[in-house]
Amino acid sequence: MKNIKDYNLDELQEELINLGEKKFRAEQIFKWLYVEKVKTFDEMTNLSLELREKLKENYNMCNYNIIKKQESSDGTKKYLFDVLDGNAIETVLMQYHHGKTVCVSSQIGCKMGCKFCASTGIKFIRSLTAGEIVEQILAVEQDINDKISNIVFMGIGEPLDNYDNVIKAIKILNNQKGLNIGTRHISVSTSGIVPRIYDLANENIQCTLSISLHATTDEKRSSMMPINNRYNIEELMKACKDYIKITNKRISFEYALAKDNNDNLDDAKRLVKLLKGMLCHVNLIPINKIENGKFSKSTNENILKFRDFLNENGIVATIRRELGSDIDAACGQLRRKNLNE
Ligand code: SAH
Repeated sequence: MKNIKDYNLDELQEELINLGEKKFRAEQIFKWLYVEKVKTFDEMTNLSLELREKLKENYNMCNYNIIKKQESSDGTKKYLFDVLDGNAIETVLMQYHHGKTVCVSSQIGCKMGCKFCASTGIKFIRSLTAGEIVEQILAVEQDINDKISNIVFMGIGEPLDNYDNVIKAIKILNNQKGLNIGTRHISVSTSGIVPRIYDLANENIQCTLSISLHATTDEKRSSMMPINNRYNIEELMKACKDYIKITNKRISFEYALAKDNNDNLDDAKRLVKLLKGMLCHVNLIPINKIENGKFSKSTNENILKFRDFLNENGIVATIRRELGSDIDAACGQLRRKNLNE
């Protein structure tokens, strides 16, 4: 059965026309889904009983069940959602002063194989559909009975390896007749799939691009992130510069600091050289150690030194606040889970 949340409004209009219905019904349904946030077709009371039956026959609503919910002392919540095919995914809600951010998963598992990330080493199952991505936000909003203001594609999976569905999800989330989340409040993070960075540059959507850089030499980056063997630092930086040229938007570079690996002054110097003059911002992440992982967190002293060196040399850098580490909800700690795992 088709998932009704896989369609943006214009596509839903097509669907309705194909069902022999009037186009304006699509907008009514869209409002029920994303403004009223109902969980059944029966609640769509301005539709005829006949149409509701037709919808039930053709579509499901993809309502997630919460299998597990954990709450951190800092207010971060981690959800394990049943995605209705025997698989489960993790989604995280982070509460900041400026609003509520949901960290969404884009795939069930990940193919990228980054050595420091808990999503690695578990089998890749499949990409999520647009509706399955959108439902993560809806399910969290329903649970907390509040609006989400920001979305980051930083959960499980490589968003640019599920390009079409991620773009479609962003458009659905952004639709003014629905959830109406501004694309400026949406960030897409990538390990560096160069051709898709060009595609994104040409989409004409205002979301923020984050690049997981993490190292400044090909040798080191390849040892941390196998994708670097495919698209090296030079190609990646060229794509980033072109992205900025095309979009006139700032890029956010993520750099996870691991002790005795990529956190010394030489690394900082090379990073300055790589990013000099670029419209960008560096997000320093104290690396979170994963089970059996060989990377561990830099010392606080080194993290501050690294940040100060960047700032003193004209690169704007901030240290990402760690949220949810006590419930394994911090960066890189999410894993694909089976319902019976
Ligand atoms: N696949 C995408 C998005 C998912 S990861 C990407 O690679 O960007 C979101 C961010 O968390 C990335 O910057 C990733 O490199 C980082 N990350 C992964 N594991 C981490 C860990 N153990 N500690 C800190 N950051 C980590």
